[in-house]
This record gives sequence, structure tokens and C-alpha cells, in this order.
Amino acid sequence: MDILITEDLQAPAIDRLAERFQVVRDPAMWKDAAKLKAALAEARTVMVRNQTQLTAELLAAAPKLLGIGRVGVGLDNIHLATASERGVVVIAPLSANAVSVAELALGLMLALARKIPLADVSTKGGGWDRRGCTGIELFGKSIAICGFGRIGKMVADRARAFGMKIVVFDPFVKKEAHSTSWAEIDFCTKLEDALAQADFVSVHTPLTPETKHCFNERAFAAMRRGAFFINTSRGGVVDEAALLHALKTHHLGGAGLDVREVEPPPQPGPLALLDNVILLPHVGAFTHEAQTRTFEAVCRDLQRVLEGQPAIDFVNFPEPISEGRATRVPD
Ligand code: NAD
Repeated sequence: MDILITEDLQAPAIDRLAERFQVVRDPAMWKDAAKLKAALAEARTVMVRNQTQLTAELLAAAPKLLGIGRVGVGLDNIHLATASERGVVVIAPLSANAVSVAELALGLMLALARKIPLADVSTKGGGWDRRGCTGIELFGKSIAICGFGRIGKMVADRARAFGMKIVVFDPFVKKEAHSTSWAEIDFCTKLEDALAQADFVSVHTPLTPETKHCFNERAFAAMRRGAFFINTSRGGVVDEAALLHALKTHHLGGAGLDVREVEPPPQPGPLALLDNVILLPHVGAFTHEAQTRTFEAVCRDLQRVLEGQPAIDFVNFPEPISEGRATRVPD
């Protein structure tokens, strides 16, 4: 079989692939380990979202496998080392949803600054509390962007358009690399220095041992009184108890969280009781455009792999693949 789809994935790009290749779809296969193993043993490529666990053991038992297409970001469900060892290319178009996440971060900032959720609830409840809905402008305020990668840079572009002053904390990005386009940005070498200058803090780092709970009591204390905190990265970067404390003591002006330490949280919890907190169910990438872009890129690359061409959006080969070199030529 050419393409195995083990989760509920549907898109016009898949339908087009099905006209050219043998596609086997079973939206519930990810739940049945034995069935998954048997199907993978025959598959040349597999397409997954985040439910299918492609463990080292399963990949070792998939001798025909050439490529894995991951729809979405996060690679925790794929044993990358085994895939690489076995010459299986892992396709994950990591940039496909960056605009959507960046726009959501700006959306959370605007919603907090102008108290949009509060104003909506109050007006729908029959109120007309214009004074109570008085907010602040983004214009002239400063934003600290923590993590200056794909999404962080897009947030900076958009914040600049709003007339904000930008400070960045990212130990792996050097200002020289951006000397022309980012001339006015202040790159801080210490997180606390960036936080102390900002009216808004937006987090765009990966979750690593270094970033786990890096937004803790100390970091929140370093933020300006009344500042707003936005997290669309990974929930684990925030110590939620420390955030709750900073909000309840009115040290912070508000928070917008798309991601949580535990997803979904077992209960709405105490953060949900605060008027100045916006909670979203990890929807940063959930726009029609981002979903379409992701499916198009994954399907394009699965087709390329099946036809012996190199994938374009791959993640498990450290060196860029030179033109014309297939990651692994099919038998
Ligand atoms: P990226 O890899 O392009 O950028 C991450 C940046 O963080 C890099 O520049 C890196 O140098 C920096 N970084 C690493 N460790 C750091 C540290 N200790 N302190 C400060 N900076 C550090 O990643 P991206 O595509 O921009 O994604 C950013 C985050 O957004 C990730 O956590 C990703 O999982 C998350 N994300 C969330 C959604 C969503 O639905 N909310 C969707 C896509 C991505």
C-alpha cells in the first residue's frame, strides 16, 4: 500500500493523492496497536496527526516505510531517532501555521487591552458599561517577545505595525543576523531584562528542559505591574500556580493562554474565574488556511517521496538535502 492514514484526516489534497496512489484510510486505527502494526508492515508511507504513536518498535517493524507525514506541529508521537536510522523521512511543515499563531497572539493582546470578552458578556447581558470597558492602546506600548523563531518574528512584524516597541529574549538568535530589518529591536541577554521593559509579554519558545516553568514566580515578579502575559507556545513553559498568584495579587494586568500545562485541563480551574484571563483550547493552528497549507505540504511531500524525490518540509535530516537527491529511493 502507498499511503496509510491512521486517524480521522480529511482534505481535498488527500482526495487528489487517492486518485494516483493506493490509499488506505482507517480513522480508528491509531487505537488498535495490533492492526496498526500489521498495516504499517505493508505501508510505504503513513500520514498521522498526533494520536498515532509511531514508537521505535512499530517503526522497526515497518520495512517498506519511506516517509511519515505529520499533519500539525509537535513530534512527540514519532520516534525520530528510529525513523532517521531507518532512512524514513519525517515530513512536518512547521511553518504552515505560523501566521495563524502569530495572529492569535495579537488577537489575545487586543482582546486583553480592550477588555473585549468582558465587554461582550456584559453587553449581551443587557449592560451598556462604556466606562467599565475602558482599555488601553497597543500603540506606543512595548512588547517582550520570548523566542524569536518563526512565530516570534511574525509577532514582531505585526506588533511593529501597531506602533509597539519591541524587545526580544532569545539566547540563540544574534542581533547581527537581523541588523537591517530589526535595527530598532532591543535584544536582551537576560529574560528578566526583557520582561522588566514590557507592557506585553508574548512567549514563543519550544518546551525544553530549559524553558519548562521558565515563567515562574521570579519571572512574573520581574514583569511590570499591570503588564499582560500571552502564551501561545506550550503550556509547560508556565508555572500556572505562579501565574495565578501574580494575577490575583494584581501584579499582572491580565493573561491570554492558548495552551495549558495539562491539556485539556481536568477542570476549568481557578484561572477561569478571573475576568482578566482569556483561556482558549489550543487553537493557535486552527484556521482554515493553516489546515489547508499543512495538508497541501504533507501530501505534496508524500507524493515526492513515493516518486523518489526529496521531501521539502522534512525535519529529521540535519543537513539540507541537495537538489535531486532523494531521501530514500523507493524499491
Ligand atoms: P521556532 O523553533 O521557529 O522558534 C523557537 C525559538 O525559541 C527559536 O528562535 C529558539 O532559539 C528560541 N528558544 C529556544 N530556547 C529558548 C530559551 N530557553 N529562551 C528563549 N528562546 C528560546 O518555533 P516556532 O515555530 O516559532 O514555535 C514557537 C512555539 O509555538 C513552540 O512552542 C511551538 O510548539 C508553539 N506552537 C503553538 C501552536 C498553537 O497551536 N498554539 C502552533 C504552532 C506552534
